[in-house]
Amino acid sequence: MDGDDTDLSFLVPRVSQEVALLKADPRLAAPSGTRGAALRDHVLDLIGAVEQRISASPASNAGGLARKAYARSLRQAVVELQSAHRALPWLEATRTPHLNLGSLFLTEEYAGHLIGTNVDLVVVPDAEYMYSTTSWPFREYINGTPGFAPSNTRRPIVLNFPLTDADSVFLHPIFAHELGHSSVDEYDLTAAAVARVESEPAYHPERAAAVAAVKSAMPTWTDADVDQWLDERLDAWATELLCDALALDVAGVPFLFALASFVLALSYGEPGQDHPPNTLRFNLALQQATARGWDPYLMAIAPGIRGWLGGVSAEALTYSQQPFSFLVNALLRSADAFHELAAARTGANAIVPSECAAHASTAAELLSHSILPVELDEPLDRRGILAGGWEAAIARHGDSPDGFVAATSDRTLQELVGKALESSVVLEAWGQL
Ligand SMILES: [Zn+2]
Repeated sequence: MDGDDTDLSFLVPRVSQEVALLKADPRLAAPSGTRGAALRDHVLDLIGAVEQRISASPASNAGGLARKAYARSLRQAVVELQSAHRALPWLEATRTPHLNLGSLFLTEEYAGHLIGTNVDLVVVPDAEYMYSTTSWPFREYINGTPGFAPSNTRRPIVLNFPLTDADSVFLHPIFAHELGHSSVDEYDLTAAAVARVESEPAYHPERAAAVAAVKSAMPTWTDADVDQWLDERLDAWATELLCDALALDVAGVPFLFALASFVLALSYGEPGQDHPPNTLRFNLALQQATARGWDPYLMAIAPGIRGWLGGVSAEALTYSQQPFSFLVNALLRSADAFHELAAARTGANAIVPSECAAHASTAAELLSHSILPVELDEPLDRRGILAGGWEAAIARHGDSPDGFVAATSDRTLQELVGKALESSVVLEAWGQL
């Protein structure tokens, strides 16, 4: 019977067996540096939480309900421990980084700007062709264990990237968006953004019209169904727009280009469950780029590409079908809120476009002669080096959508940029000796 002596005499050693399996895996050994250390501690916390749950066995005279609850807790532990096995290849990846080293350094810099220094970044190639991120993968289980106090307080972040993109340095500003998710989570930014969206006077009458439109199209839906559906879309879309805004502030125009290369190949203006239409994403991003002062640089290096993206962004204004038109219009109206929340978070760590542009143009000039753009009279800023890489690539391959694709295929340039980013970190370390 579920939770009786026979059941528990199987379950208790079975859970201990799973714990032993995980503990014995050589990939769980302590890493030599700090990369992966917090993720490992997080897994050890999970094991500690499971051991705590094993020890919480019911008294011998406990009733059937208590015994059943204990058995359920043990079965849940097995599920959780088995899912923890997916962390083992992540830990292994910290010992042999697959990602271009220059990109890895720059990504760690983005993490510092967006989340803070109390972060353990683990960058792992993914079998699926997708960029994604997970923070605190076992937090819910650990925190849901009564009487257990986790020892790890450093946020583990796992970033996935498509293995084929390991050296696609031009695309890696996408990581700034992915890290944006951790920043939004850490600082509860979605709630702040949604509150701003809902504070617009036009929001409530327009929402009422959207609810009515959905109900007439779907007569079986109640008001509560429609409200829940709208709230979920609003939260998800606001989160994505915040991540874009944060990424643009810390990575600059290279983020805009990387985003275009990645997402415009997947969809154009279709609204997604979790992602807003790309027309809306580019509308907000370009408004932000203009507000920050990127336009002179963009118009100098890529007026054609700026025009192409401007055309995409203009189509955000032509939505007419409910309920998406309500969501798109509400978010468009609150564009400033996203830009302000991003600025409040990135502060002095945001790129200054005019400074970045000066470094980028110096780097681009050197790159166009295949010279490693590292240090002249003073060291070049790493984010400027990456922008200079794009600048040189667009100059070489053409300021047009097809030239843009050719730029992202230019392995030689990206290798040089990656090397320059790496050397710049080494030089900086020497300078501090
Ligand atoms: Zn996202």
